[in-house]
Amino acid sequence: MPNLNTSWAFALHGGAGAVAGRDYAETEKHLHELGSACRDRLENGDAALDVVEFAVAELESCGLYVAGRGSAPNSANHVELDASIMDGASRQAGAVAALQDFVNPVKVARGVMEKTPHVMLAGSGAVAFARNAGFEEVADPSAYYTLPVGVTQDDITDIAHGTVGAAVLDQSGGLAAATSTGGTFGKLHGRIGDTPLIGPGTWADDDIAISCTGIGEHIIRSGGASSIAFRYKSGIELHDAVQEMLDEVGRLGGDAGLIAVTRNGEIAMPYNSEGMKRASASSASELVVTTFGEE
Ligand code: ASP
Repeated sequence: MPNLNTSWAFALHGGAGAVAGRDYAETEKHLHELGSACRDRLENGDAALDVVEFAVAELESCGLYVAGRGSAPNSANHVELDASIMDGASRQAGAVAALQDFVNPVKVARGVMEKTPHVMLAGSGAVAFARNAGFEEVADPSAYYTLPVGVTQDDITDIAHGTVGAAVLDQSGGLAAATSTGGTFGKLHGRIGDTPLIGPGTWADDDIAISCTGIGEHIIRSGGASSIAFRYKSGIELHDAVQEMLDEVGRLGGDAGLIAVTRNGEIAMPYNSEGMKRASASSASELVVTTFGEE
């Protein structure tokens, strides 16, 4: 049942690409620290939009996940980064796709939202915008990118994947979501998945904030995050709304996971892959961090 006394809530994910049997103690420790910082900010009254940007930027910079520093190269041996952010109350949104060599794609996505009349910039246009706006560039790409925790060289030739995301309800009732990725391993040069797409990968409105992870092609074809929001808005319970979307991804042959936070402070973090690195807390519940097992 929704807890109507919840004043703030958040969920974070470090991707649904976790592989059973591998050790995620380091990412769980990191998610615990980051979750504590998010909790402090929300108790302090920070806005949901600022908290999702803060959390995703940290997940990008640390190199432990397949986003920002932890991203793997594509078929042309370039790292191409995708990110998006959405504010529920205003429905403002920003995104970048196939961005090369910026430290925090999510900050550039917020820049697109706030400094341009557009929702998404891609490729060389995104780079030109980010450079002109003064966002931090990767100084030495050949030395910067790392293999994330739980990823081996063998994975890079396989269809493995990972992503990071945050969904937040703040004390004033504001909802926001953000997502960032280096994409699926071995992806073609120019390939763009669900992550930078407002709708499939990231969604926030007055009722719900959602960030998806998993094989982007299947998430896009399932309708993704906004299809959950529309189900929820029509009166379907949160648990059923997220499960219907995941069932559709499964029917299409993919795997995925997602985090969702509602205006009532309900949190859902389901996945149909082997595992999903994740953390959540609210003013009514303790910080929980886990990778495998039940929600
Ligand atoms: N959704 C991301 C993509 O397809 C990958 C992931 O979430 O693991 O690019």
